[in-house]
Amino acid sequence: MQILLKKQHISLSDIKVATIETITEILQLEFKKLHAKFRTVKIIRLKDLQVELNTWRNDGVIPKKFFEQNYGQFLFYPPDTVQNARSIVIIGILQKIICVEFFYKGKPYQVVIPPTYVYSDVRATCQGILSNVLRKNGFSVDRAILPMKLLAVRSGLGKYGKNNLCYVDGMGSFTRLEGFYTNYEFPKDDWCEKEIMVQCKNCSLCQKACPTQCIPDDRILIHADHCLTYFNENEGNFPTWVTRQSHNALVGCLYCQIVCPQNKKYLKFYQNKINFTEEEILFILRKTPKEHIPQTLAKKLIDLDLDEYYSLLERNLSVLIQSNDSPPLF
Ligand code: SF4
Ligand code: SF4
Repeated sequence: MQILLKKQHISLSDIKVATIETITEILQLEFKKLHAKFRTVKIIRLKDLQVELNTWRNDGVIPKKFFEQNYGQFLFYPPDTVQNARSIVIIGILQKIICVEFFYKGKPYQVVIPPTYVYSDVRATCQGILSNVLRKNGFSVDRAILPMKLLAVRSGLGKYGKNNLCYVDGMGSFTRLEGFYTNYEFPKDDWCEKEIMVQCKNCSLCQKACPTQCIPDDRILIHADHCLTYFNENEGNFPTWVTRQSHNALVGCLYCQIVCPQNKKYLKFYQNKINFTEEEILFILRKTPKEHIPQTLAKKLIDLDLDEYYSLLERNLSVLIQSNDSPPLF
């Protein structure tokens, strides 16, 4: 049942006009201010979500090892902080590419962090908005640790691209997705069939640009265990078949996103820049233990949500410096 938050009765002769603000309407207004969108699904969809994911594993679409490493973290039940959960809120927010600029041995470098890697502020903001509106009305809210791309596509918030990313209208794939449980029952269950963008039908730009050829023709899921992101987000040497020129981001990979016509308008406009000093870069390249790096560097890494990748940064940065002869991304 939709909650009535405010009802004003205005007498116009004998007619009474009611102005109704529902929780959904209030949240729509709040998220619109952030250029964000949201959908809601009933809690019973958790089961469908889990079944779908397990099917991918059981059918061998996702190799078991990769599945355990990357999908094992999901929790298909609400936390204790949300008793009697009724709905899941799925939010998409437009995000910027971050350019990190620095000098090394007198030479200027620019490396990128793809959108969606910097998430802490966005997550806190979303949770803050939901909490303000829902807690005020006696409901609980807490984060949902779920496969967000699949959930976003299943909620109709976005559609898959051939590159397996979630594209949201007005944001392209530069969309940070966040999910939250609540025991408020939203009136709408947006659950729907998965869709792939119509624009992908006669396009293969992302496939051609992919440096590891992991975007197939015959299925929606990419071969994620061959995606560059998988290698540079995890420890270990890069496979020998990954060429030096393949590397293009401090973590992750942007090739299939920057060539996509659906992202064209977000490329330049949404870049943020941040500078690292040569001294800070040297701390990273010398693999200085995190507890011994200067506060200024530690803060930058935390602000960029890169501190969790700290142990990988030396390897990822080194390979980018070595491959700096490649043409720039933009
Ligand atoms: S590059 Fe083309 S095929 Fe790939 S996601 Fe974008 S529109 Fe779809
Ligand atoms: S992120 Fe990079 S490696 Fe992964 S599918 Fe896209 S282009 Fe290929």
